[in-house]
Amino acid sequence: MNEALTPSRREFLSASSVALLGLAAQGFQGDPIIDIHQHVGYSGRPDNVLIAHQRAMGVTTTILLPAGRPVTTASTHAGVANGLQAQAAGNEACYQFARTHADAFRFGANEVPDVEGATTEIERYLKGGAVVIAEQKFGVECDAPEMQRIYALAQEHNVPVLMHWQFKMYNYGFERFYRMLEKYPKVNFVGHAQTWWANIDRNHTDQSVLYPKGPVVPGGLTDRYLSDYVNMYGDLSAGSGLNALTRDEGFARDFLTRHQDKLLYGSDCSDHEGAGPKCQGAQTIAAIRRLAATRGIERKLLFENATRLFRLRG
Ligand SMILES: [Zn+2]
Ligand SMILES: [Zn+2]
Repeated sequence: MNEALTPSRREFLSASSVALLGLAAQGFQGDPIIDIHQHVGYSGRPDNVLIAHQRAMGVTTTILLPAGRPVTTASTHAGVANGLQAQAAGNEACYQFARTHADAFRFGANEVPDVEGATTEIERYLKGGAVVIAEQKFGVECDAPEMQRIYALAQEHNVPVLMHWQFKMYNYGFERFYRMLEKYPKVNFVGHAQTWWANIDRNHTDQSVLYPKGPVVPGGLTDRYLSDYVNMYGDLSAGSGLNALTRDEGFARDFLTRHQDKLLYGSDCSDHEGAGPKCQGAQTIAAIRRLAATRGIERKLLFENATRLFRLRG
């Protein structure tokens, strides 16, 4: 063998060490992770930085959630909610991004629910392969006729609807959402954001508190929706999801066990690092690994539940 053509032992060793370090950063053996909640253009983040951020977290598949079209309506709080209040890009940008990076990215379909032709726009992207209607983050009643048209469309196309629940701001009427869960039993709904996560606690009475701290008493509205309705799921993303996991870790361990088939990992962070204290998504992965009672539960939360719910295999 020509010595000059083989890598030196030293080069070989350093290459293996780098590979091993990469695996260590991903936790267990580089297992695949699905992130169900990210955005293109999030707070101005460049596309190449988003790709590097997802890789740094160890995420292998990312679902990109588009904004609706920018409009000045009551449902966008006169434009405040445009770009999902975070400079998030719309349908076409997410679709194109996912097509260009098909190995690691999928996309959702979205629109401001009460604009003319909302369901036509959403359906166009569902037909193009969108795996979810999201992120629904608008100032509308959760049972308004325009929202029900979206739920009916979700049923027709067999995709979940992901909703950002934020008291007096986005998706009004959390306490009566069970009526929609019952009226659309074939539609899988994914709960997300402050009001969704604050209501894990039965003692959460002041709905204006968006990031409650301290011990949790089981049996809050969110806990009951997850227990009582097969079509209700939870998105662990964002500061609200991480807060729910960390405010009372004894509760969280039990909560993850009880709803192990219903909870899904998402990041929803806009940092450029993908690791360390600035990256909330990386901290949520660490919290799931710390708090999942078994390795089986951990795999469900980080990968298997999303694979099933969004029908990502094949
Ligand atoms: Zn989001
Ligand atoms: Zn991050």
